[in-house]
Amino acid sequence: MTVHGGDVEPVPPEDAHGRGGEDGARPYEMVVVGSVNADLVVRVDRRPAPGETVIGSDLVTHPGGKGANQAVAAARLGARVALLGRIGSDGHGEFLHKALAGDGVGLGHLVETPGPSGVALITVGADGDNSIIVSPGVNARLSEDDVAAAAGLLASARVVSLQLESPLAAVLAAARTAARVVFNLSPPAVVPDELLALCDPLVVNEHEAAFLLGGRGAPGSQARALLALGPRSVVLTLGAGGAVVAEPGGVIEVPSPRVEAVDTTGAGDAFTGALAWRLAGGDDLATATAFAVRVGAASVRRPGAQSSYPYPEDLEAL
Ligand code: ADP
Repeated sequence: MTVHGGDVEPVPPEDAHGRGGEDGARPYEMVVVGSVNADLVVRVDRRPAPGETVIGSDLVTHPGGKGANQAVAAARLGARVALLGRIGSDGHGEFLHKALAGDGVGLGHLVETPGPSGVALITVGADGDNSIIVSPGVNARLSEDDVAAAAGLLASARVVSLQLESPLAAVLAAARTAARVVFNLSPPAVVPDELLALCDPLVVNEHEAAFLLGGRGAPGSQARALLALGPRSVVLTLGAGGAVVAEPGGVIEVPSPRVEAVDTTGAGDAFTGALAWRLAGGDDLATATAFAVRVGAASVRRPGAQSSYPYPEDLEAL
C-alpha cells in the first residue's frame, strides 16, 4: 500500500535546510525525534514472580521504539514524516531501517551508530496488557549536535513530536527549535518547566499523569492539574476510556470506540503519531484527539506495535 497519497508538487530533494523529502515529493509536515527499538515479544499466561520461571510463546521480533512508532503511525495514515534518531550497526539496526523505509518514513537524519540498537523486552499477558524493559542502546547517544544538524528540517515542520526514550538534552534542544511541540512524557521522568511550557499538547497516560501529579484522581481534574503545570494544552489518554483534552478554555472528554483488545503495545504511540499529524494538518486539538482515539483503538485489535497500526481504510469500521 502506498503511504504518499495524492498528487503532489515536486520540490527539490532534501537540501541543507531540510525542506524537501528524500524522494523529491512534498516537504515534511511533521518530524518525530526519538527512539528506534527492536521489540522482542513473548506472550505469557501470567508473569513470573521474582526468582520464578514461566514458559512463554515463541519469540516474535517487531520494529518498535516510541519515536519510530509515532512516525510509522503517521506515515501509514498518509503523513510526510521524517524521523531524527539513531540506530545501531547490528542486525536489529538493519531490520529497523528496512521497516521504516518500507513505511515511507524520511530517514535522512536517522544516524547509524556503532553499537547495539535499542531493544524492548516485552511480555504480553492474557489480558492483552504489556510489561516492558527498554535497553536504550545507541538511542542514548542522540545528541544536541544531531538536533543542530537537523535544525532546518525541524524548523520547517509544522509539528515536532517528542518522547523520552531519548536523552533529555536532545529532546529539549528539539523542542526549542520547533514551531509546535507535541510531547509524550513517556517513560515518565522529571523534566524542566521550560520543556513543559513548550508543549502544545503535553500527552500522558494515566500512569504518567499520576507520576507528574503525585497521585491519581478523576480524569477531568487530573487533566486540569496537568495544565496548571505549564503546558499550553494537555491530552490525557485513558486506554479503553479514550482521552481527555484540557485547554485554557475548558476540558473535553473524547470517548474511544469499543474494540476487543488483543495487545495494547504501542497504543499511546499510535495515538500520539496520529494526533501530531492531524495537528500539523490544521485540526484543532479536540478534532485531532477524536481522530487519534480511533487510531489508538484500531491498534489494540492486532498484536505488536507498528505491526498493528492502521491504514486509513482500517479506520472506516470505527
Ligand atoms: P499508552 O499506550 O501510552 O498506555 P493508553 O493505554 O491510554 O496509552 O492508550 C492510548 C489510546 O489508545 C487511548 O486513548 C485509546 O484511544 C486507545 N486504546 C488503548 N487501549 C484501548 C482499548 N482497550 N480499547 C479501545 N481503545 C484503546
